Amino acid sequence: MQSNNIHEIVVLSGKGGTGKTSLTASLAVLAGNDAVIADCDVDAANMHLLLRPDFGETFEFYSGELAVINQDLCNQCGTCAEVCRFHAIPQDKNQYQINALDCEGCGYCEKVCPTHAITMQERRSGSVYISKTKVGSTMVHARLDIAAENSGKLVAKVKNDAKAIALAGNKHFIIVDGSPGIGCPVVSSLAGANYVILVTEPTMSGLHDLKRVHAVIERFRIKSGCIINKYDLNKEQTAEIKCFLREEQIDHLADIPYDSIFSEAMIEEKTIVEIESPLKQLVGSIWEKVKEQLTRKN
Ligand code: SF4
Ligand code: SF4
Repeated sequence: MQSNNIHEIVVLSGKGGTGKTSLTASLAVLAGNDAVIADCDVDAANMHLLLRPDFGETFEFYSGELAVINQDLCNQCGTCAEVCRFHAIPQDKNQYQINALDCEGCGYCEKVCPTHAITMQERRSGSVYISKTKVGSTMVHARLDIAAENSGKLVAKVKNDAKAIALAGNKHFIIVDGSPGIGCPVVSSLAGANYVILVTEPTMSGLHDLKRVHAVIERFRIKSGCIINKYDLNKEQTAEIKCFLREEQIDHLADIPYDSIFSEAMIEEKTIVEIESPLKQLVGSIWEKVKEQLTRKN
């Protein structure tokens, strides 16, 4: 629990294509201006398509280092290329040049260069945006540059900025759209969370990935609840998921039936709670349940 009464809710799926981002964006609309939204799916950010942020402020994100050769000092001895185990210094048109995509920033070439032609410089890895969404809330989101690494660090940056904004604005909720999978970005997005919403679907891979992501959450001892999306497409698999939820004492938040409203809303660049349908009530009741769980923890 965070000391300032901010409840941080992270939405995870373990795999892509479960409807996680649609549901996260819907919760963000329901929470309105009482929440700060953090899109931590930095490798494939797309919540902006539904929340239509204004990209009000942009900041460059630097992480790691890149070797740079000053050609005026280089005598073409080739020592740097010999020692680079990542083969990141090819010779092109009689000049040794750093291939930024291959350079791992280890700094070995800088150490061995006899003319001090190589320097290590901060590497730009992406951009961070602080925006106003269409419902007036603040959203922190980011974009990782092509082939850039350290998405875990970028997630940490997005989360920290979101926390600072929530604190300064006396907001009660931070709603985080987490990355798929169980890697470093997911671990970063879980730090400091109060509740995790797991979104799954009734397929073999859905259950497999749910188990994997739940194993990560357990290490953080964070309470979690699960939404089974498209539950009616495979009721046998849904029953297996429910069995797993009972065994692991995960709150079963809701079963959502397959509904073309998800796609229709996406086409209209809306969340499912902005369209009149039974799903609007269902997602509304999920939001109430999550808030109840958070209050119960107090
Ligand atoms: S080690 Fe230094 S001087 Fe030699 S090729 Fe590389 S950059 Fe040029
Ligand atoms: S910093 Fe390391 S990886 Fe990058 S070019 Fe130099 S030796 Fe190769």
